[in-house]
Amino acid sequence: MNKVEVLKQEKDGLDVWADIERYAKTGFESIDPGDFDRFKWYGVYQQLPKVGHFMMRLKLPGGLANVEQLREIADITDQYARGFADVTTRQTFQWHWLTIQDIPEIVARLNRVGITTMGACGDIPRNIVSCPVSGLHPDELIDPRPAILAIHEHLKGNKEFSNLPRKYKLSVTACPEQCCQPEIHDFSLVAVRHPETGEVGYGLRAAGGLSTQPHFAPWLDAWFTPDQVVDATRAVTAIFRDHGYRAKRTHARLKFLMADWGPEKFREVLVEYLGYDPVRGAADNAPGNIYRDHVGVHRQQQRGLNWIGLSILTGRVQGDQIRSLADIAERYGNGEVRTSHMQNLLLPNVPDENVDLALEALKEAGFEWGGHSVRRGAIACTGIEFCNLAITETKARMTNIVTHLENRVEFDRNIRINMNGCPNSCAQHHVGDIGLQGCKARIPGQTEQVEAYDIHLGGTLGQNRTFTRAIHRKVPADKVKYAIENLLNAFNAQKQDGEEFYEFIRRHDDAQLDDFLGVETIIGAPETRDARDPAAKA
Ligand code: SF4
Repeated sequence: MNKVEVLKQEKDGLDVWADIERYAKTGFESIDPGDFDRFKWYGVYQQLPKVGHFMMRLKLPGGLANVEQLREIADITDQYARGFADVTTRQTFQWHWLTIQDIPEIVARLNRVGITTMGACGDIPRNIVSCPVSGLHPDELIDPRPAILAIHEHLKGNKEFSNLPRKYKLSVTACPEQCCQPEIHDFSLVAVRHPETGEVGYGLRAAGGLSTQPHFAPWLDAWFTPDQVVDATRAVTAIFRDHGYRAKRTHARLKFLMADWGPEKFREVLVEYLGYDPVRGAADNAPGNIYRDHVGVHRQQQRGLNWIGLSILTGRVQGDQIRSLADIAERYGNGEVRTSHMQNLLLPNVPDENVDLALEALKEAGFEWGGHSVRRGAIACTGIEFCNLAITETKARMTNIVTHLENRVEFDRNIRINMNGCPNSCAQHHVGDIGLQGCKARIPGQTEQVEAYDIHLGGTLGQNRTFTRAIHRKVPADKVKYAIENLLNAFNAQKQDGEEFYEFIRRHDDAQLDDFLGVETIIGAPETRDARDPAAKA
């Protein structure tokens, strides 16, 4: 058994709360080292360097938040987290700079407004993600929010599932774009019609995941009624708990069990756990459309109402922005706000007559919703600023890349640029159009290694899903923006009529793509390039 398995057997992660309250009184130095791992069960991690500050992640099922919750998040951001929070790819908020003394008070304040951190991290079911326009999208088959909340309530604090072999990520969606990426989750319910009656229920995907060994989740040919969604969740989660691998942390996710069993055997075991055979024959309805954000002003299924999707570069927001968004949601919407897996925020239920007023107020608060497509499609993980596993800096670097491209390349197609500070893929570089994986590189003539990125291209989701392939490794970090610039210019010069960026990547081989990146020419002429870079000058 690995070290974490031993820790979990000694004390369940959910049982660490009393210790957190005690440590808040006795101080950081008094913390039992084993409890640092268990803190994750309450969404709390040590941040880099490990000298007394913590990161905390919330659970916001489906990315749903109301004004009262948002104001509390804003106040905590300012009071404890040095004035900023990060919207994460798990559709929630994350803070940094907390101390052990702060944590009980913060959690109590969150609980008072109906937010939990229980299960936000650790080997336990994580935040359930969904489409940020659940209940709003004109073409959705069913409102998935009741299913999301039923599953969330069932799993919250449930000791049957608090010692899983590894993290366990869930998604539930009825959006035809399936923007919450069911293909890369451990457990996903996707709205689909019964093959004979046409009744709307949920199909099942299981055992997807990224990290260092990406796997797509197969469709399990199992259809459930909306009343059976908790059954389905319990069964798959229990299979993972009982049969998942616990010897090595790097070989513990559900995807490894699925790789050994295959979907047919997995389904047979699922039937045993369920006690019934779910309906077969519902069609796998993965969308053809592979670009999935909801940024901009869009009409909802409800007549006269709109959502406004905001583009939050790298997910970082200031406390006063969060407070302003709450005020705007209250004044011009219905008091709801959503988060998205693309690290964005969304204001739903804005009546037609309020849209312009809301946009004006959002602009004043520093939000954006239009602009260059690289800004909309940029995602960056936490990186070396706070993450213990990071090799490279990410958020500031991604901001620099986006600013550079905005200034230098006209680009009117959808694009996703996903930047990770290490191979772990929290920002999902395996499924980006451009995936950047942090590493170190040695530069001739220099003794110290420099931060660098492996440039991967060609990740897509949907029907023709593929993971990225590494095209050029160890590109010095300050040169990555020039390589992407070259690639986008090559696309602009050589694209075919109506061709999307992912199609362009797909029709070229690795050598051609490497030529487009032109890394060797960049490395050979850094001064010239830097001199032309308005972002670098600034
Ligand atoms: Fe940290 Fe790596 Fe995840 Fe980024 S991808 S947050 S660096 S573990």
